[in-house]
Amino acid sequence: MRVEDFLAACQGHEGSNGTRTMEVDGRALHFRLPTIEDLEAVDESLSYADAQTQLLRACVHDIDLAQVTQLNEPLLAEMARLDPLAEPRLALTCEACGHAFTLAFDVAAFLWREIEGWVARLMGDVHIIASAYGWSEREILSLSPTRRQVYLDLICA
Ligand SMILES: [Zn+2]
Repeated sequence: MRVEDFLAACQGHEGSNGTRTMEVDGRALHFRLPTIEDLEAVDESLSYADAQTQLLRACVHDIDLAQVTQLNEPLLAEMARLDPLAEPRLALTCEACGHAFTLAFDVAAFLWREIEGWVARLMGDVHIIASAYGWSEREILSLSPTRRQVYLDLICA
């Protein structure tokens, strides 16, 4: 899976700037898309529903809180449509049975797992080289990845 594929699927969307308009019961509702700053400003002690209301209240320009609560679902659906990368979803099909489904893709969690995997591999490499040569962790980490791999290949040969 490549970043380019993600971006290509979202062409025509202009990101999160600017005021948007959505018609609700014959009335124009003005809002903007949530930003990272909006997410950070949400009170973490709130329930999920109350946090959602606080977030929408920050983004809707011209209606009061009671109406925001009523409009949560259509407004969230419209926000997701306008900014598909805010909550990326993958369309998947099971190879065995052909069942099609979508899966939420948590970019931050994925990246964190990648980093944890990389750290675990690196520490494993340090362990192998230190066990064979008695070098310190600092000495081993100061080798370039290419040189580290050469020693690993020699040890495992
Ligand atoms: Zn299946």
